[in-house]
This record gives sequence, structure tokens and C-alpha cells, in this order.
Amino acid sequence: MADSDAASPPPPPAVQETARRWTAAVAAVGFLPAGRARTRASLELLLHDLLAALRAPEPDQTAGHGVGVRLVELRMGSPAAIGATIALLAERLPRLVSGASDHERIPSVLGRIAAGASSAQRTAAVRAAETLNRAEKLHWRRVFADQQDRLRRQQLHDPYSLLPNRAHLYDHLTERITEAAETGRLGVCLLSIGDFGQLSDAHGDALDELLAGIGARLDRLATDDGHFVAHLGDDLFAVVTATASLDDLVKAADQARSAIAGSGSGTRGTPLRVVDGLVEEPAAGTSPDRWIRDARRALSWARQDGHERGVFEPGRAADDLRRQNTAAAIPDALENREFVCHYQPIVDLNTDRVMGVEALARWQQPGRLLVPRDFIALAEQNGMIHRLGAAVLHQACRQAAAWRAGGLPLVMSVNVSPYQLTDPDLTATIAGVLESTALPADQLQLEITESAAVERYEHVLRNLASLGVRIALDDFGTGFANFAALTRLPITCAKLDRRFIQEAAAGSDPALAMLRHLLGLFDRLHFTVVAEGIETEAQQYLLTGLGYRYGQGFLLGRPQPAELLAEHLR
Ligand code: C2E
Ligand code: MG
Ligand code: MG
Repeated sequence: MADSDAASPPPPPAVQETARRWTAAVAAVGFLPAGRARTRASLELLLHDLLAALRAPEPDQTAGHGVGVRLVELRMGSPAAIGATIALLAERLPRLVSGASDHERIPSVLGRIAAGASSAQRTAAVRAAETLNRAEKLHWRRVFADQQDRLRRQQLHDPYSLLPNRAHLYDHLTERITEAAETGRLGVCLLSIGDFGQLSDAHGDALDELLAGIGARLDRLATDDGHFVAHLGDDLFAVVTATASLDDLVKAADQARSAIAGSGSGTRGTPLRVVDGLVEEPAAGTSPDRWIRDARRALSWARQDGHERGVFEPGRAADDLRRQNTAAAIPDALENREFVCHYQPIVDLNTDRVMGVEALARWQQPGRLLVPRDFIALAEQNGMIHRLGAAVLHQACRQAAAWRAGGLPLVMSVNVSPYQLTDPDLTATIAGVLESTALPADQLQLEITESAAVERYEHVLRNLASLGVRIALDDFGTGFANFAALTRLPITCAKLDRRFIQEAAAGSDPALAMLRHLLGLFDRLHFTVVAEGIETEAQQYLLTGLGYRYGQGFLLGRPQPAELLAEHLR
């Protein structure tokens, strides 16, 4: 295709006229994007090419095609514009060429103009569609990515605090553990807002704001100090940080603690109370679950101990696990009758005569004997104390009845847990045991620890006393017995805690003064007194010198199985 050439002479007037008409014809059916003058100049050039092809000595099989293409490029390729072009050229071209062979070529050249335009039109349409398609694809991909991003953020962030959530924390820990060098250490701290339930009642809608405030502060902490901070929902937040030692984690935890405590405030402007649990260890070969579990455990220790902070210790965790396993084994042990009673004599200190025995529970496990310290509190926690207490009571009463039948009428003293006092069936259970063992009620004494704040159970104690059983206040001096209540309650005996005896015998004047004072008090209350924990002759001598009548202790007889005790007594 020819380019405009400044050196070529101006086209003959007939050519100029044709270009002008051509321009007008196209303008008549549509719009000239390039304007009239420039369109005419372009068409003049095309005309020049056409004439050159028609006049060429050899026919050019492609002539006209390029003109069609060019018309489309000039945006004059619409069917109407091409129609107008063909009509105009069919009329004008014969005037511009002279030879007969040139004339003959005109129809085919015009045909190729139409074909060129139509093929260029098609190509342009395909290209436009492709471009459109590409743009559209790009657009949708962006929308999709945005949505995925938003969804991911939602899935990985708490909706209130906007901090990373539990799933995010797990992802993060997994990453940290995987990337950890062999000696790399990690610290995880779980922080819990105390009294969150109360707080959410008091704050209502403002709670969302409070959480948002905490989120913002913790987020700043994360950005400034390079910790990872997460919100596990409600009152629970987590901080993860690389550490060299526990000190580093303590620092991070202190920062997070004050960020939370100072965020907004508790009810009426008080700072929020925060309890935290820390675990700091080498990271390699661990799992996210383990970190969270151990931090949770440290947190629960803090709560149990009434402290603000707990630090994970493997030894204590192993103890916990052992205790859990022990607690879980209690029901089977009851079925298998693994709980047995040992009996410790209660002695008249003046005559050494055995007046009664205290039944003390033991758990006979294969190869070892567990003492109450190992299982009573567990049974109280998991509710098994009711069945365990009933089993001990039954065994002890049966034993007392058997001794009595054999000419050995001993008062049987049995420990009753404060938890048992909350059992509405307790009185009925004891009545049933007395009936089934045929033990006279006054041969049974129930020991209730002074620390149980016995006055709360006045009603229960009255019911029990109405059966005719004796009631003793155990561990006297360790709790804070309400002396006024003591005069009201149906108590017949006090068992003096062994600390008084041991301290007095060791030379403590206040303890000695207490022993004297208490004896006077018990006298006035008409309580029998049993001094517990007598281990030496000197202790026994001291007590009898003060006027104490009954005692119990290793010196006088250790807790032992029924057969051994009976042998000893005979
Ligand atoms: P407790 O009722 O005050 O029983 C006395 C405890 O002191 C017994 O410990 C006994 O072995 C121990 N003891 C006796 N004489 C001496 C002594 O001279 N020196 C020293 N250091 N200790 C002496 P045990 O058998 O380990 O029982 C501990 C506690 O467990 C009991 O204290 C009682 O409160 C509770 N307990 C025992 N059996 C039962 C039971 O069947 N049910 C309930 N609820 N609690 C029980
Ligand atoms: Mg006792
Ligand atoms: Mg005691």
C-alpha cells in the first residue's frame, strides 16, 4: 500500500473528484471517524493503489483486498460503507482507466475489496472478542481473589476483635514449629479475662466495643514487638513469640496483660482482671495441640491456685494425669471391692483401754496401698464420694457388729465428707446400714471435719442425731468453728487436731495455753475430747497432766486391718 509521498505530483483532478465523492458517499451512510479532510486524503491514496493495480502490465490476483482491509482499519468497513464504496467505484473507476484489459479487471478488484473488508471485519471482531474475553476473565479473577481474600480473612479472624482466630493460631504455630531450628524455642501465653460472664452481663452491647478495643491494642503490640496475637473467642487471647528463655515470654505476657487490663475497663472503670498461663519450650518436634493444651493447663493451675499466672511444668502435668487416671478408676475399684478399712484404736489415756476405733479408708491396688490423701479429694470432685462413703460405712458397721458379737463392743468412728452432707439420702442410707448390720446406733460415731463450716448443715446433723448416732467434730482447731453454733449443734465429741499436741509438746506456750483453754470449753459444752496424733510418751504424759482423757495416735496403735487389730486387742 502506498504511503503519502511529499515528492509525488498532485493527483489529476478526476482522481481528486472521485476521492471527494467517495468521501461523501461513505459520509452519507455513516460517520467519518477521522474527519472529512483526512478521510479524503486516505481515500485518495487507496484510489491511487487501485489505479496502479488496474493499470499494471500483469494482473494482480490480490489487488483490492488490501484496500478492503484498510477501509476496515479506517473504520469505514461497515456493510453500508463498503456498499457505498463499491457502488461509487463501479461508477467512477471505468472513467479513470483507459485500456480494455484494465476495464475487465474492475469487477474482480471490486469483489476483492468487499472480500478484504469482510475478512478484516471478521478478524477485528474475533480480536475484539478475545480482548473483551481477556479483560473479562481478568476482572472476574480479581473479583474472585478479592472474595477469597475476604473469606479467608473471615475464616482466620475473630469478627469482634479482628485478631487472628483459633484456626489462624494453629496455622501459625504449625508454621513456627516446621520452621524452627533445632535449638529454637517458642513461648505461648493464654490470657483470660476474669469474670467474663459477669462482664458480658454488665456490658451488653458495649462488650463488642470492649473486644474491639482489646483487639486494637493487642494488634499494635503484635506489630510493634513482633509477637503473634490471637483471639480464641470470648475471654481468651493468645500470644506466641520466639524466646531465648522463659523471661522473654514473661515480658511478652506482661505487655499483653497490661494491654488487655487497660483496654476500656471493667465495670465502672476498674481495670480488667487477667489470668494467664505460660508455656516456654524448644519448638522442634512439637504440635500446635500440645502448646495450646499445655498453656491451657498452666492457665487452669493459675485459677486453681488463685494466682494471676501459671507456668507449665511437666512434673505437675504428669501428676494431674495420674490423678485423672486414679479418679477415673474409682467406679471399677468400688465394684471390685478394692476399698478396705483400716482401724485405728481410740484409747483411754489413763488405763490404755481401747474404747473405740476410727475407720480409715485404704485403696488396695495390685502391689500398693493408697491412703485417703491419694483419692478422697478426687472422689469428692467427681461425685464418687457418695458411693465410696457408703461402702466404707457399710464395711465399718459390719465389722463393729461382728466385733460386738464376738464380745468386743467398740464404738466405730467413721469419717463423713462434707460433700456427703449435701446428699438428701444420707440419713436414709445410714439408717439402712444400721439396720442391715444390726449395729446399735449409739455404737456408730460420724466424724465431720470442723472446716466444713458445720453450722450450715445443722438440719442434716439433727436428722442424723435423731437416728441415735454420735457426732464428732474432726480436726478441731483447723477450721473456724462458730462457737455460738457449737452450743446449738447435736455434737457429742471433739477430736483435737494433732498440731496442738505436737506444738505444745515441742514447747510452744500459746499451743499449751490453747490446750488448757479448750479443755475448759469442751467441759462446758459437755463434749468428749479425743486428742489426735499422739506419737510419743512425752505427748501422752503432757495430755494426761492437763486432764485429757482420750487419745489416738501412732504411739497407741497405728491404723491396721481388722484381723491384726483384733489380735492385738486380745
Ligand atoms: P482424720 O480423720 O483426722 O484421720 C486421722 C489421720 O491421722 C489418719 O490418716 C491417721 O492415719 C493419721 N494418724 C493417726 N495417728 C497419727 C499420728 O500419731 N501421727 C500422724 N502423723 N498421723 C496420725 P489417714 O488414714 O491418712 O487419713 C487422712 C484423712 O483422710 C483423715 O483424717 C480423714 O479426714 C480422711 N479420711 C480417711 N478415711 C476416710 C473416709 O472413709 N471417708 C472420708 N470422707 N474421709 C476419710
Ligand atoms: Mg477422722
Ligand atoms: Mg482428725
